[in-house]
Order: sequence, then C-alpha cells, then structure tokens
Amino acid sequence: MALSLCPRCEQDHVLAATIKKTAQRIWVCPECEAAWLDETAIAAPGFIDLGTHLKAPGLTALWTELDVSEAR
Ligand SMILES: [Zn+2]
Repeated sequence: MALSLCPRCEQDHVLAATIKKTAQRIWVCPECEAAWLDETAIAAPGFIDLGTHLKAPGLTALWTELDVSEAR
C-alpha cells in the first residue's frame, strides 16, 4: 500500500495504525498528528486531531495507544 503524503502539512506520510484498546483503524500523520478514520477519506480539510480523538473514549493522547502497522 502506498502511503499518502499528508494533505494537511505535506511534511510526512500518513501511517496506518490501530488503536489498541478499541481495535479501531486509524490513519495518522506523525508530523502534524492529523488523523483520519477512513483511508479513502484522507484529505484536507476532513482530518481530525489525533489527541482529541484518543481522549474521546477515555484514552490518553499518546502514540503508545496506537499500534502502527506500516513501517516507514
Ligand atoms: Zn501532516
């Protein structure tokens, strides 16, 4: 799978990850922490903030909540 250049900051590539506690798939930019819940919807505008999304179900806003499945 080709990684998409982040449409928000254009500084890094969007990584596929899984939120460990909820098993939810998420796509996230390691540079600006923009996140998307649908790979086909990766675009700007339309991103969500990773920290905000993780806090919603009671998680901490840390990358340790994620299992990043795509090696850079
Ligand atoms: Zn970015």
